[in-house]
Amino acid sequence: MQGLIQDAPLTIETIIRRAERVFPTREIVTKTATGLERNTFKDLAVEVRKQAGVLDRLGISEGGRVASFAWNTLRHLALYYSVPCTGRVLHTGNIRYFPEQLVYTFNHAEDEAVFVDRSLLGLLAPLLPQLTTLKHVIVMDDGAPTPLPDDPRVVSYEELMADAEEGAIEGRVTDERTAAGICYTSGTTGNPKGVLYSHRSQYLHALASLAGSLFGTNDRDRVLPVVPFFHANGWGFAHSSLLAGANLILPGPDLSPGGIIKLLEAEKVTIAAGVPTIWMGMVPLLKDADLSALRVVICGGSAVPKSLSEAWREAIGLPITQAWGMTEMSPLGSVFNERAEIADLSEEEKADYRTSPGIPAVGVELRIVEPGTTDELSWDGETTGELECRGPWIASGYYKVDAPSSFSPDGWLRTGDIAAIDPLGYVRIVDRTKDLVKSGGEWISTVAIENLIMGHPSIAEAAVVAVPHPKWGERPLAFAVVKDGESVTKEELLGYLAENLGKWQVPDDVVFIDEVPKTSVGKFSKKTLREEYADYKLP
Ligand code: ADP
Repeated sequence: MQGLIQDAPLTIETIIRRAERVFPTREIVTKTATGLERNTFKDLAVEVRKQAGVLDRLGISEGGRVASFAWNTLRHLALYYSVPCTGRVLHTGNIRYFPEQLVYTFNHAEDEAVFVDRSLLGLLAPLLPQLTTLKHVIVMDDGAPTPLPDDPRVVSYEELMADAEEGAIEGRVTDERTAAGICYTSGTTGNPKGVLYSHRSQYLHALASLAGSLFGTNDRDRVLPVVPFFHANGWGFAHSSLLAGANLILPGPDLSPGGIIKLLEAEKVTIAAGVPTIWMGMVPLLKDADLSALRVVICGGSAVPKSLSEAWREAIGLPITQAWGMTEMSPLGSVFNERAEIADLSEEEKADYRTSPGIPAVGVELRIVEPGTTDELSWDGETTGELECRGPWIASGYYKVDAPSSFSPDGWLRTGDIAAIDPLGYVRIVDRTKDLVKSGGEWISTVAIENLIMGHPSIAEAAVVAVPHPKWGERPLAFAVVKDGESVTKEELLGYLAENLGKWQVPDDVVFIDEVPKTSVGKFSKKTLREEYADYKLP
């Protein structure tokens, strides 16, 4: 027997219509080169409808891919709605890709049009001859003096929008399983792969963000996604903020620690989100800042060292909220929250818990298995295995790429992360399979060593990679960046590690560098270090 409930499709149109109807006066503040631009949800809805008119007039095909190549701005946010609500698919282009990755992803997605910020045009213009599927290059003027390339496909966003009729967004997508967006993985470990989100997956993922056990986003919030809209579906903020009626503060191109702190203060931001490097850079500035409005600082994409979370707690009374996920997971998989069982622990014990990215997000199932099998391992906090997940916003495949090894025989996504889960469901990410050091038949967690090194008072950043070793197969090599004005010797650092690690886990050497190289989404790029130091001779 079936239930007697309306079968309302979970489409993105319903999010923008709710925002417009229920919260028309909520703010969207965009930081531009010249100042702060203030708009409302009502203004956003007008922008969305006009963009819809433009997309129709340009004749973008049904299901056609439309790329964005832009900072976090109101116009970029509007594309998150106009494109899918008119039955097309938004490809959020990663502005930090290498040229060959850009060409690969644009051609792979077969984008028909791209909306590009003029300040980013310099990155795209030289590649235009290779981007052969593009019929329209729509340049959004953000005041940058970048010259326009001599290419007949180039048109002005402002001119198109000035003449645009508001297009319809209602009722055009009725099947909630229709594709809405495509986001390519950041390629930390190989060629980028396209993850194709549906209206339904985007809706449910946004809805989950509103849960109290995740971010509890609500209409009193002022949300600052420092995370770019192109990194892992912008962590869902383009949808969840509107669904909640939460004001959005968009940082535009200024992602400097000083710029972000000023925005947090001036706009009384309550929820902010970014990768660890963003929050690390801000630590020295915290003591002089008034961040009393902040209630959640979300950090994901890489492990959050205890020292980072504690530095925030000590400076402003608010620890960092760690989340774990992947582009393939829309991206939320788990978020830290203080379960009732740990509420009465000491601050020190809680700080240890916070090194976990939390328990499975509502809607997501996690399991750890013996790698290469479907044999589930125990949630005892000790046993480690490959982390796998399933749920209504988890990828079931990649766009136009067969990758059977990414999925278990029974359909779970294999994350490539090694983890333990404790009896309360708290996940501990030990490492990525590809980053683990396999030394003499034992696995060494590079994450654990990095977190320890970054806990040293003189160290700002650290990364550990495996290097080949004739006797042990592989051994850990550490890289460390010393804080400005501090000094520490290799011997001191190795001595400190020896006090805190098993003897065989202590790296064989430490290389001091000026900065850990970063990936296209601001994570530590261990791939770059591995390549650069492939021939490094350990002492
Ligand atoms: P890429 O795989 O190209 O880096 P993603 O941004 O989708 O692209 O990265 C997902 C991966 O990032 C996860 O599989 C995991 O290895 C890592 N990650 C994300 N969040 C965390 C976290 N809180 N702790 C440790 N690792 C994390």
